[in-house]
Parts: sequence; C-alpha cells; structure tokens
Amino acid sequence: MREKNITIQKVERLPILASLLPYRFWNDTTFDSIETLCEKCSKEIGPEHIRAEITETNRSVITIDAYGLCYDCRLITPVAPMRVRDDGSFLMQVKSGCWKEYRYAPEKTIGLLGQLITLFTGGKQ
Ligand SMILES: [Zn+2]
Repeated sequence: MREKNITIQKVERLPILASLLPYRFWNDTTFDSIETLCEKCSKEIGPEHIRAEITETNRSVITIDAYGLCYDCRLITPVAPMRVRDDGSFLMQVKSGCWKEYRYAPEKTIGLLGQLITLFTGGKQ
C-alpha cells in the first residue's frame, strides 16, 4: 500500500530495486528495469537508488511500488504505481489518476499460423 507521508527511513527499509530485477515471468518475459528523475534536480535515479516493493498479483501481473532516492537533495521521488504484465506491457498511473498503457518488451508475434499450430499441437512442434 502506498503511504502519503513516507519518510526516508521507511523507504530505506525496502529492498533495493536492482536486487529485485530482472523479474522473470512464468512465460520467460523479463522485466528489466525502471529509472526515474529526481523531482527537484532532475537527476536520473537508477535502480540502485530506487527502493521498491514488488507484489505478485497473480502469475501474469506484478505491482511495483517504487521510490527514488536522491541523496543530493535528500528527497524521495515516488515512482507512479505500475502494473507490469507478462505480455510485455505495463500500466502506469498518471497524474490525473488514470492508468496508461506502455510497453517494455515487444509483443510476442507468433502470428495466426503459430497460434493454430499451438492450438492443434498443444505447443509441441
Ligand atoms: Zn535531486
């Protein structure tokens, strides 16, 4: 759950994002990384300075709650809540509160023929 007044002490108790990623889904789709910008100085904050909590909603979806730490500004920049899916897409909550869809991996294009083969052979070729 996202807290309104999160402190640096609380954020530092969360695992470092770099230690949680890459996240591999059951179907081998791999979510590699996120980065964010410091709200104050706009410096890039990489996964080694992002603290995060990954929740496995189900086998196809994970939720990432992440906070970027800028040690120069002593400021926490919360990363917008993300729902990462095993099909290479993710949803991110934008400022207005709506969820927008993005991609982190190309769509798996096995095509119609591939789908038919999968259907008839149960995946064995
Ligand atoms: Zn900063």
